[in-house]
Amino acid sequence: MTRWDAEAAVVGLGAWGAAALWRLASRGVDVVGFERFTPGHAFGPAHGGSHALRVAGPGHPGLVPLARRSRELWPELEDSGGESLFVPCGGLVVGPEGGPVVGGTLRAARAHGVPVRTFTASALRFQYPRHTGVPAHHMGVWEPSAGLVRPERAVRTAVAVAEEAGARVYADSRVTVVEPVPGGIRLHTAERSLRVRQVVVTAGPWLPALLPGLPLETVRAPVTWWRPLEPGDDFGPEAFPAFARELEDGRVLWGDGARAGDGIRLGLDGGCGVAKPVDPEGADRSVVPDDWADLARLLPAKVPGLEPLPARVAAGTRTRTPDGLYLLGRPGGDPRVVVAGGDDAHGLAHAPGVGEALADLVQGVRGDDPAAAPGFLSPDRFA
Ligand SMILES: Cc1cc2nc3c(=O)[nH]c(=O)nc-3n(C[C@H](O)[C@H](O)[C@H](O)COP(=O)(O)OP(=O)(O)OC[C@H]3O[C@@H](n4cnc5c(N)ncnc54)[C@H](O)[C@@H]3O)c2cc1C
Repeated sequence: MTRWDAEAAVVGLGAWGAAALWRLASRGVDVVGFERFTPGHAFGPAHGGSHALRVAGPGHPGLVPLARRSRELWPELEDSGGESLFVPCGGLVVGPEGGPVVGGTLRAARAHGVPVRTFTASALRFQYPRHTGVPAHHMGVWEPSAGLVRPERAVRTAVAVAEEAGARVYADSRVTVVEPVPGGIRLHTAERSLRVRQVVVTAGPWLPALLPGLPLETVRAPVTWWRPLEPGDDFGPEAFPAFARELEDGRVLWGDGARAGDGIRLGLDGGCGVAKPVDPEGADRSVVPDDWADLARLLPAKVPGLEPLPARVAAGTRTRTPDGLYLLGRPGGDPRVVVAGGDDAHGLAHAPGVGEALADLVQGVRGDDPAAAPGFLSPDRFA
């Protein structure tokens, strides 16, 4: 008879894998986790001090149940881990009413009954004076249930709580091969080989290297931190909450005033250093002026009061699918393998909901919960 080293393994303890490990271990599943670095590291996307959570995100409206469930689960993880992980500071989106950012948010809010408040451009100028140059035909949408998650702390806490619940964790342990064997999976690292009945692969930008053939592409996604010109200037989360702002040319300026790290986190989707494909294994982490030059040019007109150059720049990565939505499910229907990958800039906020959906898949729990591994995220949808 085959002997298994664990019922399930989670490969990659970043945002999603740490959450899956937590949900599995807290349900009493015999689970083991592998992380190639130290959990909470800065080499993947789940770092930078603060990540925004919106329940009514501007992406696919079907993600709202996942976001809502995550919004419920973050406080549960805070309680279990005794750590503050979520800052309930609300969130703002700005842009033309019919654009992807504001239009998408309003559609999601209406479809799922998420309370939001709308502002005209002039009311917005009064309420959030840090945002300038908002054209008269743009508007703002305020979501009080939005907020900020602390990414590094969230990952570390989920792993620690999972360990307390019985999960075994191999940190600094890179899985080199995920080998299907009859009835299960054999995982290989340089130090050991383990046999498990099921594997959850949540390797973020490194996922395609472990499971080739998934429709994923990793691209550069620089992020920058800025300091106020006047040290006393209030750019805190109340005055300058988490925001996404569609500009007149369609690019999206985003950020927040959490100031958990080196300053105010800002990014520009559609900027010139963004979205160039990279190999995450050999990813060049050096930064170039292209990573911040567009931002430096537009900030004086859009968010004045910041130093002309960023205090810090990081060459982050995003892992995209052809439709910009996650992959979440069993590729090819394989009963031994569950994957979650591909992020559309909301992945950290959705981590507890994704972790729960992954645990449901491992345990074969489906129910009629709309947050449970929705079919539109199937890894086989492009086949
Ligand atoms: C610039 C930027 C800004 C963002 N802003 C936000 C935001 O405001 N709000 C939000 O919700 N999301 C945001 N995101 C997205 C969010 O960070 C990601 O969606 C999330 O971190 C993805 O989680 P993941 O678990 O898939 O990947 P990761 O967090 O990268 O985790 C993958 C883990 O797998 C490990 N691993 C890889 N290969 C192996 C292996 N062979 N063996 C063992 N371990 C392995 C890695 O070391 C890593 O720890 C942003 C992303 C970027 C780049």
